[in-house]
Amino acid sequence: MSQHNINLKDLLKPYGITNYSFKKLEGYDSTNYRIDLEDGTKRVLKYYNNPKEFKLVEEENKLMFYLENILDYSISCPFANIEGKYISYYPDGSFSRLLNFVEGSFFTKIEHNESLLYNFGKRIAEINLALANYECDIIEGRKLNWDLQHSLLNWNKVSYITDANLRKTTNYYFTQFRDVVSPKFPFLRSQIIHGDLNGWNVLTVGDDISGFIDFGDLTHSPLIGDLAIALSYAMFDKENPIMDLLPLIKGYHDTLPLLEDEIELLPYLIPIRLVTSICHSAEAKSNGTDTEYILISEKPAIKLLEKWTSINPIHIKNQILEACNFPIQETENKKNKLLEKRFQNFGKSLGLSYKSPIHMDQAAFQYMYDTQGNTYLDAYNNIPLVGHSHPKVSEAIARQQRKLNTNTRYLYDSLIEYSDKLLSYFPEKLNKVFFVNSGSAASDLAIRIANTFTERKHRLVLEHSYHGHTASTIEISACKFDGPGGKGNNQNVTKLPLPNLYNGLFNDANLYIENAKQTIEDLISRKITPSFLIAEPISGCGGQVPIASGYLKTMKNYLSSLNILLILDEVQTGFGRLGNHFWGFESQDVIPDIVVLGKPMANGHPIGAVITTTDIADAFANGMEFFSSFGGNPVSMEAAKAVLEVLEEEELQKNAHVTGKYYKENLVSLQRDFSVIGDVRGEGLFLGIEFINEDGAPNTNRANIVKEQLKKMFVLTYTDGPYGNIIKSKPPLCFNKSNADEVCDKIEIILRNIQ
Ligand code: PMP
Repeated sequence: MSQHNINLKDLLKPYGITNYSFKKLEGYDSTNYRIDLEDGTKRVLKYYNNPKEFKLVEEENKLMFYLENILDYSISCPFANIEGKYISYYPDGSFSRLLNFVEGSFFTKIEHNESLLYNFGKRIAEINLALANYECDIIEGRKLNWDLQHSLLNWNKVSYITDANLRKTTNYYFTQFRDVVSPKFPFLRSQIIHGDLNGWNVLTVGDDISGFIDFGDLTHSPLIGDLAIALSYAMFDKENPIMDLLPLIKGYHDTLPLLEDEIELLPYLIPIRLVTSICHSAEAKSNGTDTEYILISEKPAIKLLEKWTSINPIHIKNQILEACNFPIQETENKKNKLLEKRFQNFGKSLGLSYKSPIHMDQAAFQYMYDTQGNTYLDAYNNIPLVGHSHPKVSEAIARQQRKLNTNTRYLYDSLIEYSDKLLSYFPEKLNKVFFVNSGSAASDLAIRIANTFTERKHRLVLEHSYHGHTASTIEISACKFDGPGGKGNNQNVTKLPLPNLYNGLFNDANLYIENAKQTIEDLISRKITPSFLIAEPISGCGGQVPIASGYLKTMKNYLSSLNILLILDEVQTGFGRLGNHFWGFESQDVIPDIVVLGKPMANGHPIGAVITTTDIADAFANGMEFFSSFGGNPVSMEAAKAVLEVLEEEELQKNAHVTGKYYKENLVSLQRDFSVIGDVRGEGLFLGIEFINEDGAPNTNRANIVKEQLKKMFVLTYTDGPYGNIIKSKPPLCFNKSNADEVCDKIEIILRNIQ
């Protein structure tokens, strides 16, 4: 904001104003005063101390006069000074102009009824129509970072935002703008537009607009900008931002018909304005140049932006298209065609979630958007660990893919950087890593490594286990070899009972330990010493069953005494999901010999890893080279590195702990109300809800009903466990308390309706 040394009395001299009272007004690039004259009329004095701006101000004046002649509402037009000029210069090169004071209440400050919103839309269209053929080189040559077409100029300001979660959301909308808007924007209708129809620049009387003020953002830009900007501010604090604002859009469209190409971009133009405002506020705060006026939009903009991610962009587009009488794209036929083709191209073993599958289109953080315009709260998918489409991860992948993607037979920085970082999360002893491309490949490699080290091949697995889909890993996946189509365990595999204290074979960890030891001793007595025991710290396919506390710790000592390795599969439980610990083995107070990693490691980019000790890795180096074409490639390394950085920046392990605890407590309180919930278990954001009958037997039907009903209520979960009677919830770690409330409230509604 400009400062000035000339006092107000001197500033007003050129206008012949001597008797007045005044009030300082807010302003961005000028110092503004309301001047109340003796006769009761009001003026606005705008003072500029940047002489370079005068040409632009002159053009602004001309444009305002032009508009005033056309429009039947007020524009803050200039008054001539005593010399008949519309700009008054001062000896130091600064200048001012005197404008009429537009009466009315600020749009921001009043209730918005339908008729006011409609009229606002209409008035925007009128000003756009009035300027349709207006030409001005100076205005057309401006490059403002507030101009929507130059939104990306603000991207570097994201670094001023102190809240990591907000940085993520703003970065996300910049990437969306770049990917979706930028390629199309230059081809839209463009002309000179007002550029800043926020509610503080719009005055109202009754249900109509009395005038527009502040023409300081005039630019030549896509026409849709004025409507988009007006909408983004008018949506502040609206319960249903799109529905509530349809009258404004209609008012515009009835006066100046929108084109489909313009409507299509609105879901991205509205948030980019919010993001721009948030970035400017953050910069001002960081520079200490913040004022109440500069920060005025910050809070509601942040609130609206967070809400925006929970609305499917297709829904936004469709609502607007419908309001403007455009046809909505039919999706059901397309979905059926996809299904048909799927059955043609794939074997029936490829499954689908839900009776009526979802045709997904897009996703952001904990929300997934289908092609029909629905938003699903994702309470299920653990692969997008730091949130779907996280900008830091997606940018890292794209950037590296454009730069170099090769294999581990070359030297490149990221292989070392990531391996260093990843290993720093492990106990010192676990200091060697092998990269592959999936959890299955990691489990498979873990088997090879263990078998090479022990020179044995017999495997110990837990009941209901799952460790992968390859030939070797299906053999160690009890839920597969014991499940439909399975042929039981291979002779080189021995199954141990799952140490499940809720409804397993025993109700005491020691009994499970005794049982396991007995089985191993029996094997040894038959001259079979196993190579390893593989387990998950919390059994996913077993139904989110935490391994009875003490089991793994005691078993580790016992296994070590027999030189049998302990492999822990952290594919599901690792990377902070459990909240209290980064790895599941830490919550079991045990250090395994080998750890298997996958799924969430790079937020959906395919990567897996095996972590082990020097001794074991050395034994594996028996002359045969280890090489995985894609394992450890530079793109995977950048993606995985970004995931660890995001986990730290956004404190997602802490969130898993805090939100997970809250979520579990709420589920436990549901359990108290509904006897059909037998158990609520798990840690952090890795939870299971077990459904039972009155006699305690598995209630698969109820779990399925809850899963299907939740889907109908736009919440994604899944069922698991040997009887499919456990609802599992393992959402992206950005899941928040209000998301947890939503899931619990909806489960409650479902259970009440079927009691
Ligand atoms: N281990 C566990 C515990 C898993 O849950 C999975 C995948 N569901 C795997 C291994 C195999 O991982 P992928 O599907 O990446 O091969």
